[in-house]
Amino acid sequence: MKITAALENDSGKFIMKELDLEDPKEDEVLVKVAACGICHTDIAMRGGHYLLGHETSGTVVKTGKKVRNFKSGDWVIVTYTHCGVCNACKNNRTYQCNHIHRFFNGKRLDNSTPFSLNGKRVFPLMRQGGFSTFTVCHKNALTKAVTDLDLKSLSPVGCGVMTGAGSVMNYLKPVKRKPLAVFGTGAVGLSAILAANVCGCDPIIAIDRIATRLNMARKFGAACCINTNETENIASAVKKICGGIDYGFDTSGNEILLENLRLVLNKGGKACGVGIGGNINFNTKERGEGKTWECPDTGWSMPQKFIPKLLDLQKKGKFPFEKMIHFYPFDQINQAFKDAEQGRVIKPVLVME
Ligand SMILES: [Zn+2]
Ligand SMILES: [Zn+2]
Repeated sequence: MKITAALENDSGKFIMKELDLEDPKEDEVLVKVAACGICHTDIAMRGGHYLLGHETSGTVVKTGKKVRNFKSGDWVIVTYTHCGVCNACKNNRTYQCNHIHRFFNGKRLDNSTPFSLNGKRVFPLMRQGGFSTFTVCHKNALTKAVTDLDLKSLSPVGCGVMTGAGSVMNYLKPVKRKPLAVFGTGAVGLSAILAANVCGCDPIIAIDRIATRLNMARKFGAACCINTNETENIASAVKKICGGIDYGFDTSGNEILLENLRLVLNKGGKACGVGIGGNINFNTKERGEGKTWECPDTGWSMPQKFIPKLLDLQKKGKFPFEKMIHFYPFDQINQAFKDAEQGRVIKPVLVME
């Protein structure tokens, strides 16, 4: 079928193109895209190599003959794909699937793709291709959405929201009334703050350079906010609040912030990060003190189990992630990227229908 998708031209501008989309194979599903968020990975992966967009929400139109759990008309959230049969998948670690890199590059297991432009293959980043009117996804990438929210508000759950909340709930697993700090409070960091609030962390400390993000962090349950533009010594500002932190989460990948996280982490403290390229290498003494660092991809989330939990919390008013969203019509994709790159909006979401 013919679909409309946004592809970058040579000068990096998104242009609407007519693409061909294959029918779903036996384990695939055709989805009519309702909306797709813009995530930092889309910004990092620009350059015209992929059909971007990996925070898709939409409606099932057609299912392959081996698809049992979905039917036409179902609302779905699209996430990363997993094969379902490798060792990691069989052991409930779908986020570590052996084929995750192939899927990240938009390829099926046989290296093919359902998208093409004038006969030339087009690979959808993370096997989603959300910046289009329709997509064909593997059934394992879908989670049915049962919610009171509108379909377009669900799109960021599949990457940014799940990653932030999962890093706290699935990896850090904080003990109640212990201090937790989030370094970098974009959509992923704010989702982590919402999750930390659900877990009963106290105090929750938000660290960022943009005041509007910190205001949102405060609304989401951060008792203390540190604006790095106005703070000379971040570590001593954190220590002044609570002495040190038991849990730290970094989304910035920024060396200075990571060094400050390292300085304020208590003995036995757990820290993790999802910022591109960011890392903490604890020395032998620190490791001996029980300090740990991990990069939990996708927040170690198994979408089909974790997303219903998040949507249930949202329904109860405990996880109002939708407050971060700023909607744009699909044809304003260039403006939406500009606003995202300049930090003017927290979570831009393109609306296709
Ligand atoms: Zn993402
Ligand atoms: Zn697998």
